[in-house]
Order: sequence, then structure tokens, then C-alpha cells
Amino acid sequence: MKRTHNNGELRLSDVSKEVSLIGWVAKKRNLGNLVFIDLRDRYGYTQLVFDSSFEEITNKIKNEYVLNVKGIVVKRKDANSNLATGEIEVNVTFVNIVNTSELTPFIIADKTDALEDTRLKYRYLDLRRPVMQENLITRHKITKSMRNYLDNLDFIEIETPLLTKATPEGARDYLVPSRINAGKFYALPQSPQLFKQLLMISGLERYYQIARCFRDEDLRSDRQPDFTQLDIETSFMSESEIMDLVEGLFLNILKDVKGYDLKLPLRKFTYKEVMDTYGSDKPDTRLGFELQDVSEIFANNNSDLLKDTAADGTFKAIVGKGLASDLSRKDIDALTLEVKKNGGSFLTFGKVSDNTFTGALTKLVSKEEESELFSKLNLEENDIVFLSAHLSWEKVCKAMGALRNELARRFVSVDKSDYDMLWVVDFPLFEYDEEKGTYTSTHHPFTRPYDEDIKYLDTDPSKVRAHHYDLVMNGYELGSGSLRIYNEAMQKKVFEIIGLSDEEIENQFGFFINAFKYGTPPHGGVAFGLDRIALILTESETIRDVIAFPKNASAVCPMSEAPSLASAKQLKELHIKIEKE
Ligand code: ASP
Repeated sequence: MKRTHNNGELRLSDVSKEVSLIGWVAKKRNLGNLVFIDLRDRYGYTQLVFDSSFEEITNKIKNEYVLNVKGIVVKRKDANSNLATGEIEVNVTFVNIVNTSELTPFIIADKTDALEDTRLKYRYLDLRRPVMQENLITRHKITKSMRNYLDNLDFIEIETPLLTKATPEGARDYLVPSRINAGKFYALPQSPQLFKQLLMISGLERYYQIARCFRDEDLRSDRQPDFTQLDIETSFMSESEIMDLVEGLFLNILKDVKGYDLKLPLRKFTYKEVMDTYGSDKPDTRLGFELQDVSEIFANNNSDLLKDTAADGTFKAIVGKGLASDLSRKDIDALTLEVKKNGGSFLTFGKVSDNTFTGALTKLVSKEEESELFSKLNLEENDIVFLSAHLSWEKVCKAMGALRNELARRFVSVDKSDYDMLWVVDFPLFEYDEEKGTYTSTHHPFTRPYDEDIKYLDTDPSKVRAHHYDLVMNGYELGSGSLRIYNEAMQKKVFEIIGLSDEEIENQFGFFINAFKYGTPPHGGVAFGLDRIALILTESETIRDVIAFPKNASAVCPMSEAPSLASAKQLKELHIKIEKE
């Protein structure tokens, strides 16, 4: 089946040409003696005009039929400026119905009110919508740009196995039973972390991979059980050299895909700074509502609510400029809930009216504290100030960070085609997990501590900072990376601190630590979530819109109905018995 042009191609300069086109019927309009059909393919739409000699066949044609037509390009009387081909139409001289279509469960158009599960069930039709095709094309351009950039810098793309041993990235593993090795399981990789480090030990020096990763965790709008990341590892590079490499990568991606000029170098914030100011380790710095430290003002507060925290705790305030009259009691209750949901112990507020507070805060502050707050926070008529406090600095920062995001969601609209990019560095190597009663790795256990902090590993691990860097864009963590430990004893020590016994270290990582004995080069790397990058650059609402065949929020594919039951025969071969709950 030959076509001379695609459906997005014909222009005024093609008038009088005889052309042949193929595509799907997007719309049919019957105007008595003339029938107009918009023919669609990946490239666009072309308007076809059928005269009455085609009546019998045009009566049969319905939406989503596949047509092959021949015709003559003519100038339209009234051009349609919304369409690339809007200045011409094609007077049809021949038509062949290549295939018919049933009525589709939703209309194939950019705007849709179909439920997401219906779109996922008929994903092949959803992907016929031009906006979805555009998303996948943008995603392709992103990976192409990544590959070009890294290839120019001598990086090589190497695949690592999917059926493998557990790699700890903080989630549960997806396990695959082995038929041949009864009772044993492969783990799908949470990332290629161990393999890319082993490739450095092999001397490959500059590796990358567009890698599939699998993490069994509760889904959110920016998470999927299987997802893709650009995974990079290098030997002999310093932290700042790796960061420069990454900045060049994003300069190229934004230029190639969006024609956007990213200003370099990117800003660098320490973990302490972003938490103090934005209450998040992945802040969008454009939103306003910054957290302000007012601990000093409250150091001697005597109120029942605050006195326990007053001397040693952290007090954080957020000012809503001119918003007092926009926030009802009900709004404030909802904001309080948000703060509590995110680990805060309380939220109180004061509205500014006639140079004094009204609201819950009046009962908690003395006249002197009130006037100090007014001058420190530059409070004016109709401002609202929110206050929370906690003995844990981190907890109050996180809780107020959640409040900041919620206020911004209600009151700030950001330009999605602009990019707020920054680095966060100086993370702690460990976080204390109260439930488990042990330290866990902030990044992962292969992250190298700062040399000058190694002395705290035995005495106070919470003081050890890590060579760990996160790249943040528009409030999303785009990627994380670190310099790695390359010394066997240090690697064992870190495993011990996160609570692994000698036996567990040997069983889970014996092969990995053993490799460290054979001339391990200093190395480091980073990985970026491709789905998130595509989400931001396509300005989509969810990462499901930039993945061809995603799962829904229950980790189910409504189209194939995976996951599904296995047959008794398969289970027997896999030596698995299912117990009914
Ligand atoms: N493996 C890490 C991750 O998936 C990235 C890295 O350290 O390179 O987050």
C-alpha cells in the first residue's frame, strides 16, 4: 500500500498534485452532496472531500475505519489555521476501505472524559489519541538526546540482568520463582546498582543504561511498579565532575527536546538549607511560602501547648501574605490535618487585624512575643501566620514543608514550561528508623561517607555526611547519585551499622564484597527517573501518561489483567503451593 504523503504534510505548494494517503477516519461530516472526512495518522489530519459519486461507499464509512485514498490537492476556500494542513483539502478520486472498526469505547481525540481505567483497558486506542502519541515521541527524543550526549563522551551502553539477586533501594523486591532450582527465587532489580559498580571493577570506566527497575511499593501519582531510569556509573571522577557531567546532560536534553536554554551552573543547596527553608529535600523554589525559624522568639514561652518544646525545640512559621480573609476555619482545619499527616504535632495560626493577632495564636503568645513576630516576619494587615514546633528539627521541617506545598497548590500557579532545577548535597549518610530501631541508609548502603566524618561512624552515625547528590526539578526528585565506597572494610562497616549480621552480609552481598579485593577503582554514579523527566517535559498530570502500557494505582494492568492466577501445572513446576487466606 503506497502513500505519497502522510496526513500532516500537504501544504499550498502541493496544490494540483495527485496524492495517495492512508489513515484512520477521525471525523465524518455529511453536507448533502459533499462528504468531508478528516483522515488521521501519527503525523496529523488531512481533510478529504468526496462528491456524490461516492455516496454508496461514504454511507458505509464510520469513525476509525482505515482508508486508502487517491485524490487531487486543492486550496480550501476557508483555511483552518488550527491545522498544519488547514490551507488545503484533497478531492478524492479513489477510495478503498482497508479495514472497518467497531464503535470505540471513547472518542479518539486529545480531550477525553473517559475514565482512566477505561483508557488503560483499551490502551491501544488511548495511544491513538494525538496527545498521547506526542508524549511518547517526546519520551523518545529525551532518550535519544541522552544517548547522543553520553556516546559523545565515550560512555557505553551495557545491559545488566533482570533475573538477579536483591539490590537494596529501600523497597520490597519482586520475586520470580526458579523452576530449575526448587524453592529458590530471583529478585527483579530495584536498580542495576551492584552490576554497574562491578562493571567499574571490570575497568569499563564509563557505563550507562536505559534500565528497567522494579520496586514493590505503594503507588503514588509519580510511581509505577516497573519504571525506567537512565543509569550512569563512572570511575575516577570527583563529585563535582559527575555533577558537571549531569548538568551538561540536562542542558542538552532541554535544548534538544524543548529548545530551552538552561542556565548553568545549577544552584547547590545543602540538605540542611532546603529543609530549613522549604521543608523538603525536593523543593520547588518558586512557590513562596518559605519556612522561617522563630525558635528564638519562643525560647521562654510559657503556654501549656508550647512550653515543653520551647527550650530545645524548633519553631517554624509560614506567612500567607494577604491571605487571612481567604482562609476559613474549615480551610485551616484541613491544613492542620495535612501537617499532622506529615508528622507534625500541631498547627496554630494568627490572623493580622489592626496590628494584632486574632485566632488561636493569641492565646499562646505574650505581647512581647507577638511584637517580635510582627517585626521578624514583617507582618501586615490581613496576613496569616502559621506556626508549628517539635523537638525534632526534621519533623517540624517536613510537616511545615507539606503545609507549604498545600498552600502553594491552592494559591500559586507556576509556569510548567519553565524549569526550577537545583542540586541538594550534604545529606546525612544514615537516617534513624524508629520502627526498626536501627539506622537505615539515606541513599543506599554503597554511598561513601565524607572522609572527615568517618570518625563518627563508631560514635554517632547520625553525624556522618555522605557524598550523595540529588537533582531536583520543579519539586520532583529527578535523580540521585553518590560516590561509592570502594574499600571492603568500610563497606562491611556500613552494612553493620544498618543492622546486617555477618551472615546476612555474606548471603546477600558476599559476591559483591569479594570483588572489592581485586583493585577496585574509586567510582561513583547517578540515576534519573525517565518517566518523571518525560512527565515534566510533556507537562502531563501523571507518569501513566508518558508510559505506553502502565499499571493502575492498584498495580494492575486493566488491559491484560496482569497479575493473574497461575495454573496448577505451572505452580507445581515452580514448587509453589498457594495457601488460601
Ligand atoms: N541506584 C541509585 C537509585 O536507583 C542511583 C545511584 O546511586 O546511582 O536511586
